[in-house]
Amino acid sequence: MKLLVTGGAGYIGSITTQLLLDEGHEVVVFDNLELGHREAVDSRASFLAGDLRERESIHDAMMSVQPDAVMHFAAYALVGESMEDPMLYFHNNVVGGIYLVEAMSAVGVQKIIFSSTCATYGAPDVIPMTEETPQNPTNPYGESKLMLEKILLWARDRHNLEPVFLRYFNAAGATEAFGEDHHPETHLIPLVLSVALGKRGKIMIFGDDYDTPDGSCIRDYIHIVDLAQAHIQAVTKGGAGAFNLGNGMGYSVKEVIDVAREVTGHPIPAEVAPRRPGDPARLVAAADKARNELGWKPAYPELRTIIEHAWKWHQAHPDGYEGK
Ligand code: UDP
Repeated sequence: MKLLVTGGAGYIGSITTQLLLDEGHEVVVFDNLELGHREAVDSRASFLAGDLRERESIHDAMMSVQPDAVMHFAAYALVGESMEDPMLYFHNNVVGGIYLVEAMSAVGVQKIIFSSTCATYGAPDVIPMTEETPQNPTNPYGESKLMLEKILLWARDRHNLEPVFLRYFNAAGATEAFGEDHHPETHLIPLVLSVALGKRGKIMIFGDDYDTPDGSCIRDYIHIVDLAQAHIQAVTKGGAGAFNLGNGMGYSVKEVIDVAREVTGHPIPAEVAPRRPGDPARLVAAADKARNELGWKPAYPELRTIIEHAWKWHQAHPDGYEGK
């Protein structure tokens, strides 16, 4: 298949591109390189520099590429930042998404695999969460993703789009070639590993008074390769609707730090800090639907493996991608 991958220079997009190419698909990456890295784009992919917020830019790309399907990763994705500046998130994630939908509809491209998130569910009462869990986001990031899900449902009904929503839990890990390099970094695992690399003195634990066994927040960490593989299954197996992507195992912030201590052999000093606004206490996936309908089976479900692979990449790339 020929895929147009928005945000293909970012963390999840770059690794999905790599796996698509490994499986013999053709990939054109569309990315404005604001947060992505040119070095993260696999040399076998074509690259188009462009911004989704510029209507012509994505329209022209869609016209010239004429893809069989779109994978849409390009977005802002930080809970904390979205609480500070909601409009930034609605503008990029929603307005940019509308221009993408319009371009697909104009060119007659139907299939879209959309990077959605467990943040669309908010702070659910029942764990683990299924795709039927009510969607009540607690932060503008999750809200912006839910808005685009809804827009895509209307585009399905009115413009014959075929959307698939992949609701990610916490992506982590790396391949040998590509890994996680955000500026600034805010995610737990890369921050913990940067302490082990000696680049930071300690890790802050955002809140230890949540209603969880050790008081710190619980998340469901999923290996980036497993996440990428689900996109390929979704596009090749003709999946439809929404799919949670997680391992169904919750780990607290303190547990993540402990596993990272074992993997790295570094003491990783930690300090408790105030809660981060917008953070739900627990997010754990029920991903049976992806397993049953897409035939998806995570190859690396263990947190230890996820952290080992991330650690390997960060040791090989202590300053991330070159030139940034
Ligand atoms: N977290 C933390 N210290 C940090 C970064 C994150 O305690 O320096 C916590 C955060 O509050 C959340 C969990 O780690 O409970 C995962 O956060 P991350 O930003 O990695 O992913 P998110 O769940 O926000 O997508």
